[in-house]
Amino acid sequence: MDSKGFREAAVSSIDEIISYYDNISERPVKSTVEPGYLRKLLPSEAPEDGEEWSDIQQDIEAKIMPGITHWQHPSFHAFFPCASSYPSILGELYSAALSAAAFNWICSPAVTELETIVLDWLAKLLGLPECFLSTGSTNGGGVIQGSASEAVLTAMVAAREKYLAETIPSSLEGEAREDAIAVKRSRMVALATSATHSSTKKAALILGVRFITIPVTSETNYALTGPILAAAIESCRARNLEPFFLTATLGTTDTCAVDDFPSISSTLSTHASSPGEIWVHIDAAYAGAALVCPEHQTATSLPTTSTFHSFNMNMHKWLLTNFDASCLYVRNRAWFIRALTINQAVYNNSHSQGGLVTDYREWQIPLGRRFRALKIWFVLRSYGASGLRAYIRKTTSLGESFASWVRERDDLFEILTPPAFALAVFRMKGRDEEEANRRTKELERRVDGCGKMWVTSTVLEGRFAIRMVTSVRSTERADVERAFGMFVEFSEGVLK
Ligand code: PLP
Repeated sequence: MDSKGFREAAVSSIDEIISYYDNISERPVKSTVEPGYLRKLLPSEAPEDGEEWSDIQQDIEAKIMPGITHWQHPSFHAFFPCASSYPSILGELYSAALSAAAFNWICSPAVTELETIVLDWLAKLLGLPECFLSTGSTNGGGVIQGSASEAVLTAMVAAREKYLAETIPSSLEGEAREDAIAVKRSRMVALATSATHSSTKKAALILGVRFITIPVTSETNYALTGPILAAAIESCRARNLEPFFLTATLGTTDTCAVDDFPSISSTLSTHASSPGEIWVHIDAAYAGAALVCPEHQTATSLPTTSTFHSFNMNMHKWLLTNFDASCLYVRNRAWFIRALTINQAVYNNSHSQGGLVTDYREWQIPLGRRFRALKIWFVLRSYGASGLRAYIRKTTSLGESFASWVRERDDLFEILTPPAFALAVFRMKGRDEEEANRRTKELERRVDGCGKMWVTSTVLEGRFAIRMVTSVRSTERADVERAFGMFVEFSEGVLK
């Protein structure tokens, strides 16, 4: 494809993408293809000779679209959203054009420098404590990762190396040091709650460290509190185990619960172990986006997180930026750099050696990295802080309206947790738990079968619940009203 061919193909593709977005609500939300559908439609070998773009493009609608679930559909109310916006798509386009594995500053200085700048912009917008800024007093800073799972793994590696450095006497060297590290590692534990996303457990699995789940219940609205944490730490220590890592969550996956940061912080200051301390990672993968609104910064006690070690939020969930844009902040970048720097002659250069530049390969697990800061820059500039706040407030209020309608129909439904961050969690009522569960499952099955919207479910202490998310960019009030109408209609059907 030459420049002329690219121009024609690009114009035609962009037209098709615009038409896709303009008419997305006419498509069924969820793909209904059978497993293996695509193998039947595609040849078993790659073509020997190149094909025309027009032929390739036709296959998007004919072969790919049937297997697409439309996450940008206004009636996509499942999981959490996966964002998309035009400015962000343009960022992806330029990033593709400037394709580079920008692992060191010199590999493309703009890639590194823009990332540092936009992550500082974002940290300020979110109201993060200044320790997470690259210009802050503790030498912190942000880095873009591919996912919240990658972010927690990165934080846990750094936490493990920090803890070992703090707890293994520096006088130990050579094999004696290796042995001491092996013994220490066998006692180290990562902590999370029963409401924490599974990515923390996966990180512990990958790193081969113990993992303990702290149960949380409806009594604290599924939030971790200081006293619960204190009991968990004491129980670990009674078993000669050493907690070194905790994930605290701002917006849990099931119900969008927010852990009690002030009491966690004061518990950790009184239960501090010496010399090693527990690294606290804040997982704000989805709900962190809401922090662009000052009212959410206050409600979540964000300023009290300044004693924590790392913070992560995915702009690609609820902040209008295309997948992937997971923003990870650390209070002291040296913790990442010490844990993740491995020198290899081929990557040496005078700028890195001079120590004046950031080489983001030392802040992450992979070597190469994409120019993801561009789409964040385009989104922040195109929407502005006011545009982002307006979007968060609009979608949050849709969730609250939905929850209020559910409450009004208390003959049919009950709300299980207070609506939060554009998420309502509810179920059908029944004479007992078993009947409520059976009815709610049947309701979900009928809604799923109608193909007009998609919601997903969870189980809270044995109670089957539907999660209704209202934060997709295209979702309007009329879509949420229609969804509620369908829930009522199908529930009445279930009761018959
Ligand atoms: N943390 C929370 C609170 C989540 O809800 C999710 C996914 O929805 C994740 C982490 C994992 O996100 P990722 O797909 O970016 O790894």
